[in-house]
Formats: sequence, C-alpha cells, structure tokens
Amino acid sequence: TAPVIAIDGPSASGKGTVAQRVANALGYGYLDSGSLYRLVALAGQQAGVGYDDEAGIAAIAAALSAEFRGDQVLLSGNDVTEAIRSEEMSAASSKVAALPAVRAALIERQRAYRRWPGLVADGRDMGSVVFPQAEVKIFLTASVEARAERRYKQLIAKGVAANIRPLLQDLRERDERDASRSVAPLRKGEDAHLLDTTELSIEQAVDAVLGWARD
Ligand code: C5P
Repeated sequence: TAPVIAIDGPSASGKGTVAQRVANALGYGYLDSGSLYRLVALAGQQAGVGYDDEAGIAAIAAALSAEFRGDQVLLSGNDVTEAIRSEEMSAASSKVAALPAVRAALIERQRAYRRWPGLVADGRDMGSVVFPQAEVKIFLTASVEARAERRYKQLIAKGVAANIRPLLQDLRERDERDASRSVAPLRKGEDAHLLDTTELSIEQAVDAVLGWARD
C-alpha cells in the first residue's frame, strides 16, 4: 500500500498549508479531511437537517457528493470552496464531527484517497483512526494566540473585517469540542512527532516534516 504522512492538529495551526506543501514537494496526493466535515455541515444546512439529528446527518455524510478539483471544492457539482470556509460552517463542522455515526460514515471514503506514490492526510484523527498504519505521524500545533493571529491576518488579507478577541474565543470553543468529544478526541498520539509551529515559519515547518518523511 502507498505510504501515508498523517498530519493532525488543532484549527488554524497552519497544518493545511504545511500538508499541501509537503504533498507538492513529494508529488503525493493531499487529503483535507476537514473539508469533508465542512461539506457535511453545509449539505445538512441545505437539506434542513438539524446538527443534533445524528442519523439524519450521518445519512447525508454517507451519500455526500464531494469532489476536489485543484483548490476547488464541489458539493453535488456546485462550487462551495468559499461557502465551506465561513465562520458559520467552521462552527457547524465541529458540531457534526462530534457525532460518532458521521465519523463512521466518512472513514472508508477517506481511506480511498490513499494511492501511489503516497498521500499526505490532514485532520484530527488521521494518525489515530483513519490511517493508524501511517509511515509518518505528526501532531502539528501552535499556541492559541498564534493561531488566532494567523487567522486574523488571513481574514484581513481577504478584506474581511475581523477582531482578534472573537477569533480567540471561537478557537478555544472549537479546541474544547474537538478535545472532549467521545470519538476520536483531538490529542497527540504517543507515536506522533510533535511539531510546535508557534515560533516557526511555514518553510521551517515543511522542512521538519520532510526530514521525518526521509528518515
Ligand atoms: O480542519 P478544519 O478546521 O477544516 O476542520 C473542520 C472541523 O472538522 C474541525 O473543527 C473538526 O471538528 C472536524 N474535523 C474532525 N476530524 C478531522 C478533520 C476535521 O473532526 N479529521
């Protein structure tokens, strides 16, 4: 089977950027598993299914028509690249991700992305649940303040009005939900390398991952 580099960590840690660059450097495929939870949340909203209706949301997850085309994300053929990135969908995705039946419905779909010459999988449970046999496992994190600041700069760069305090508050709430849920709570596994990027540039973080991948 093709090698997998599993990169897990909290929201806004920069793991998406790092994972994508590592995938490019190695010529590997890239799985942004968070997008799948975001798509489930958006599809649930469109279908009018409540985020506490576990069976209803799980059925949506099982039937999800998701497609990744370069940087574009399609839901049932419609471009939802921007729509799934809203603060509303960020919060909603962490709610649907706490439902065990929803996580179960997405496991095989995620495993199907593993193919030659390799895969960089980005998420919360890549190394622990989806790809427990991954060759390289990394827990990529940064202080909550550094993550809020990165998110703030991203929003400002996009021309979106933003404030650091609500961003900090939102990150803390999502961290809490991701860490305390009953299935696949977010934490560093014993077999994962810790990569704290609080004081690192993107390039330094990418080099660290590539170093472990070459070992
Ligand atoms: O990574 P991203 O912020 O896009 O993920 C959205 C939400 O999906 C996260 O807040 C998390 O609750 C959930 N998620 C997850 N497991 C993954 C990826 C994301 O529970 N593997």
